[in-house]
Amino acid sequence: MKSHTLLMPLDMHLHLRDAVMLENVAPLTAYSYSGAIVMPNLVPPVTTLEDVKAYKQRIMAAVPNDFFEPYMTLFYKNYDKAFLESVRDHITAIKLYPDGATTNSDGGVSSFDIEEMRETLETMSALEIPLCVHGETAGFVMDREAEFMSIYELLATNFPKLKIIMEHITTKEAVAMLDKYDNLYATITVHHLLLTLDDVVGGMMMPHHFCKPIAKRPEDLDALLNVALEAHPKVMFGSDSAPHPQNKKESCGCAAGVFTAPISLQLLCEIFDQYGKLDNLQAFVSDNAQNIYGICPEFKEVVLEKRTFVVPEKYGSVVPMYAGKAIGWSIESVE
Ligand SMILES: [Zn+2]
Repeated sequence: MKSHTLLMPLDMHLHLRDAVMLENVAPLTAYSYSGAIVMPNLVPPVTTLEDVKAYKQRIMAAVPNDFFEPYMTLFYKNYDKAFLESVRDHITAIKLYPDGATTNSDGGVSSFDIEEMRETLETMSALEIPLCVHGETAGFVMDREAEFMSIYELLATNFPKLKIIMEHITTKEAVAMLDKYDNLYATITVHHLLLTLDDVVGGMMMPHHFCKPIAKRPEDLDALLNVALEAHPKVMFGSDSAPHPQNKKESCGCAAGVFTAPISLQLLCEIFDQYGKLDNLQAFVSDNAQNIYGICPEFKEVVLEKRTFVVPEKYGSVVPMYAGKAIGWSIESVE
């Protein structure tokens, strides 16, 4: 049987939530990943050193038997130099949300006034703290990411030493930015390597495919596949796995978020195998992220086999993407 081994898989964009949901979903990622960038959009968001330390403790308590490193982040606000120096050793990045752009992003940035942001971003640059960005404007939903490119340009040119991660990119415009500015990087989800808007609303409305940024056009999907499959050195896997209870998804006013944590490695193997690019998957799910962030994850070896895996209908209260469907690859062992 065909198999494929991955070393130290990393998920560079993950939502673990809190309380009962955290206890439900954190073990699913900790099982097969060495580490993950944990997003700070709790209610209220993670904005102090005490918040970071306490949230990390709750995460570690939820994954008692696994070697797993939660790479902690702060919710972007304008912070002063003394504060940033005091948190430097406790965080891996700071995540910027435009106000109201997605789940729990209230209180994010409402105007991109570079001068107001200068002290924070220059200090981050000097302290080598990467800036992760949810890059969407408040425009028409299909254009929000493309419209945000001018803000990425403003950030990239004003802070040329700051590492800026364009999170969960979904458009060919964002892909084109990678080769335009040295300090722009990107994460790509697995669902954006599989879905277009047709898979969300082209037929019956599919709440478990609904997320922000929304899946785009076939030409965008092709552009994302190109850079992911070649493991472009500035591109990393970040699942943006975002659990919501079933009643928040299958309801009037469906919450944004696709839950892929327990199926992402299997799906990635299937996609990369299908295109004959399995040899590039290691770089996409770990090596590029280690280079970009300068991190050395705990050893973990995950062996996958080309054997059918039927996605469970539910993980606790959460319905995963492709629930009940068969995926071509399974996890055989984790050591
Ligand atoms: Zn996210």
